[in-house]
Amino acid sequence: MSLPKKMNLEEKLSTQLAGVPRSGIRDFFELVIGRSDVISLGVGEPDKPTPWPIREAAIRSLEKGQTSYTSNLGLESLRIGISGYVEKHFFTTYDPKTEILVTVGVSEGLDLAFRAVLNPGDEVIFHQPCYVSYGPSITLAYGVPVPVNTRLEDNFALRASDVEKAITPKSKVLVLNFPTNPTGAIEPTEELEKIAALCVKHDLLCFTDEIYSELLYDGRQHKCIVEYPGMRERTVLLHGFSKAFAMTGWRLGYACAPPLLIAAMMKIHQYSMLCAPIMSQMAAIEALHLGEEAYEPMRQSYEERRNFVVKRLNEMGLQCFNPGGAFYVFPDVSATRMTGREFALKLLEEHCVAVVPGDAFGPSGNTCVRCCYATAPELLVKAMDAMEIFVKKYSA
Ligand code: PMP
Repeated sequence: MSLPKKMNLEEKLSTQLAGVPRSGIRDFFELVIGRSDVISLGVGEPDKPTPWPIREAAIRSLEKGQTSYTSNLGLESLRIGISGYVEKHFFTTYDPKTEILVTVGVSEGLDLAFRAVLNPGDEVIFHQPCYVSYGPSITLAYGVPVPVNTRLEDNFALRASDVEKAITPKSKVLVLNFPTNPTGAIEPTEELEKIAALCVKHDLLCFTDEIYSELLYDGRQHKCIVEYPGMRERTVLLHGFSKAFAMTGWRLGYACAPPLLIAAMMKIHQYSMLCAPIMSQMAAIEALHLGEEAYEPMRQSYEERRNFVVKRLNEMGLQCFNPGGAFYVFPDVSATRMTGREFALKLLEEHCVAVVPGDAFGPSGNTCVRCCYATAPELLVKAMDAMEIFVKKYSA
């Protein structure tokens, strides 16, 4: 008897997937995994664990045996808490019964939003350098990613005129993320207002990723696009607990939007995810209850670290603007005559310090690297000392 023909698994994969690259961050960090000698300014997450009262709330809920599914939308008490929090922070009211969906991180929220609205060929505009998942998530939802470059000379703010140039009859969604990963950029309110007017004029939906909105510095107040006239009806506000509350591993986020959009997203969520984990939801209720008390000490500490890192980078000759939020800096490394990728690889090789090549966030970040400063202050000092020696050597 002849052996059965070996299956060609590659042939079985979705062709849509073939157009999606692996994450440039993950690729780079495979080089670092398992090396205890490396100081990592790479992964974008807080260096401290979740504040204790939040962890304790989850432990208490487990002790009580709360281990079941919840409503698909998420626990009602959590949605009521989210509604109050969002009203306070974004000056916009959402009905907890019909306008809020609890998701598995902002990641799931973004995926649901794209899948709920995109038909094949619909264009989605977003600013770049940006969070690594936007382009691939759009492609996986059969949309067409349309990146709009932001520039160092504008402190990586998004120009409304550049958005306008990218709009075509196929444009359906604009994605915003301020403060921005990987640049820490803040959008000036004059530009944000013009961008809101463009959304209304061209009848675009807007997905605003607010994940860093609590992490603002120099006394700044956050302004969200949903606050402008005509925006509430066309906006999906995506937020979560990962960054401000140091809860990346709990995988909890939420989407706020008009009932029709939430119902559409919910249809996908109920068949794919069913609901977010109940213990994370219980922890999140406590996080919202604590609010600023939980994140303000971390925010203040990030601000001090930002001041230190920006000063050191500029002193060593790397052009780095002072970012208004998030916990990243995005210095230009052209002074070393290297691309961001060459710089990151050589720095890792010679000094065991890991930063992320800027091109992982889109080609426009090619001359930059991203450093996450939500890292222990003593390690930041060591990393900056090593970078200074490195930059001196290659800029000479
Ligand atoms: N959006 C941005 C801009 C991010 O930086 C991240 C995480 N790095 C996410 C979304 C994903 O967040 P979550 O943990 O809530 O899925």
